[in-house]
Amino acid sequence: MSWCFLATTIHKSQGSEYPIVVMPVTMSHFVMLQRNLLYTGVTRAKKILVLIGEKRAVSYAIKNETTTARNTKLAERIQNGAAQGSKKGNPAETGTAAQQKMKMIPYKGGAQPSMAMEEPALYGGDLFQRLSQSKFRSSFSLKTNDRHYVNEKGMDTVRSHAFEFIEKRLAPAVIPNDGKQTPMRGHPVFVAQHATATCCQGCLQKWHSIPAGTELTAQQKEYVVDIIMEWIGRQMKP
Ligand SMILES: [Zn+2]
Repeated sequence: MSWCFLATTIHKSQGSEYPIVVMPVTMSHFVMLQRNLLYTGVTRAKKILVLIGEKRAVSYAIKNETTTARNTKLAERIQNGAAQGSKKGNPAETGTAAQQKMKMIPYKGGAQPSMAMEEPALYGGDLFQRLSQSKFRSSFSLKTNDRHYVNEKGMDTVRSHAFEFIEKRLAPAVIPNDGKQTPMRGHPVFVAQHATATCCQGCLQKWHSIPAGTELTAQQKEYVVDIIMEWIGRQMKP
């Protein structure tokens, strides 16, 4: 039995009860670990409830009230991508295709965007230790031209660039393209932002507990710039 199948069953099972419920709760499909799904599954059992999997998966599901919202965003992004990608076909078809695509994503391993695979809440240690546990975050490094740029401009100038970028692209309360506002390359600060999960408000919330949708305070801006510069400093070490 797969978690995917089970999730569907949980939705379908709402309003019914069963004498025995056997439910896999596993980290391998953590995207489905949501408090409401666990609750619905557990409360279907009349006599016997068997949870199979990992203890931490259960505690993760209990803590996780945010997955639905995150998936909605992901669906939006995929839909936007699909809409841009296909010039023919009516929007309804595109939507359905995108929805099917989204449903498949958590189960296809390599097809899933690396960011969606991150679970910072489960990583241990300080920020840099946690970042090193994310495949996506740890895949970033300063390339020769970035290092050259930092050497040429100096850390103080790069820091002032970081402030400018944060001020314009990350600090405002409303960022219409949040999640897409930071290029993957072109400036060492951009690279550092992805590496340190300070690339958008969504990542700030997930990794740094700075709530999305609110304007960054002076202190928070300082914090973000400090992290970016710390990462760049570490990268510049021979
Ligand atoms: Zn981000």
